[in-house]
This record gives sequence, C-alpha cells and structure tokens, in this order.
Amino acid sequence: AIPVITIDGPTASGKGTVAHRVADKLGFHYLDSGALYRLTALSALRRGTDLADEHALAKLAEHLQCSFQGGDVILSHENVTDAIRAEEVGNTASKIATFPSVRHALVGLQLGFRKAPGVVADGRDMGSVIFPHAALKVFLTASVAARADRRYKQLIGKGFSASMEDLLMDLQARDDRDTNRAIAPLVPAEGAHVLDTSEMTADEAVDQVLQWYAA
Ligand code: C5P
Repeated sequence: AIPVITIDGPTASGKGTVAHRVADKLGFHYLDSGALYRLTALSALRRGTDLADEHALAKLAEHLQCSFQGGDVILSHENVTDAIRAEEVGNTASKIATFPSVRHALVGLQLGFRKAPGVVADGRDMGSVIFPHAALKVFLTASVAARADRRYKQLIGKGFSASMEDLLMDLQARDDRDTNRAIAPLVPAEGAHVLDTSEMTADEAVDQVLQWYAA
C-alpha cells in the first residue's frame, strides 16, 4: 500500500511547515487539507454565498476547480496562494468546516492525494477520518502564545497587517470551534504520537517525525 503520514493539530501549530519538510525529505506528495476548506471559503466569500446555506456550500466544495502547482494554489486559473491565507478566509473556513456535507464533499479530493511513493497529509482529521490506517500519525500542538507568535510573523511576512491581541482571540475562537464541533473534532487520532512544538524549531520537529517513521 502507498504509505501515508498524517500530521494533525490546531491552527498555527507548525503543521504546515513540518508536514511540508517531511514530504520533501521523503520525496512524498503533500496534502494541505486546510487549503481545501480555505478555497471553499474563498469561493463562498467571493460569490456572496450565504454562509449558513450548507447545501450551497457543499456544492461549491464539490465543484472546486483547484490545483496545486509547486507551492502555488490555483483556483479557477487564478493564483490564490496568498489570498487563502487571510484571517477572514481562515475564520470562514473553520465555520463552514462544521457542516457535515461540506466535509463529505471534500473527501474524494483528499483521498486522491494518496499517490506513489507516498503522501504527507496535514489537517485536523487526517489520522482520525481521512486516513485512519496511516503508517504514522502525528498530532502537533504548541501553546497558544507560541502559535499566536508564529501566525503573527507569518501574516506580517505575507504583507498582511495583524494585531497580536486579535490573533490571540481568533486562535482561541478557532480552537474552540475546531475542538467542540460535532463532526471530526480536533483530537489526537487513535495511535497518534503527540508532539508539543512550543519550544522546538521546525527542523527538530521534522527530525522527530522522521525518526518515528523510520522506527
Ligand atoms: O489548517 P488551516 O488553518 O489552513 O485550516 C483552516 C480551517 O479549516 C481550520 O480552522 C479547520 O476548521 C478547517 N479544517 C478542517 N479539517 C481539516 C483541515 C482544516 O476542519 N482537515
């Protein structure tokens, strides 16, 4: 079977960076499942779709015209790599991600990333729902302070403005929503290795994941 490594965790826990580097080191494909929720959110915001209309949102998710080219995310021929990183898009993504039919609509797309020689899948429910039989499951965490600090630097680096206070509030609201939702709540999958990266560099976290995978 084609090996899968799942890396789940809360927002700004460093999953993206770690998952990406692990994929590079192993020559594996990389699935950024959060990007799929963000793309659905961006489409909905642009079209003015009612954010309470589960059926309409699921239709959008089902018909997403997206592709991943190198590090770029393309939506209907437009490069939206930076646009999907905006806080508003992330917040909307976490709201629409509570709808079962939106999640269901994105399953096939996610499974399609499992291609030889392997895939590193980054998200919230990669190990619990999408790839329950993954070869290795990791749950990355970090303190709220460490995550707010990372998100702040990320946003500033992309040219967005950001306030630390707002970010802390956003993070907590997003954590609450992701943890307490009825479907695919954010909890470590069965058999997941939990890694707290508050005091770790990304490279240290990558080494730990590779060590677990080799074991
Ligand atoms: O990881 P990222 O911050 O890009 O994800 C955006 C939002 O999409 C998350 O806050 C979460 O609510 C949702 N999401 C999810 N399941 C995933 C990935 C992301 O519910 N596998």
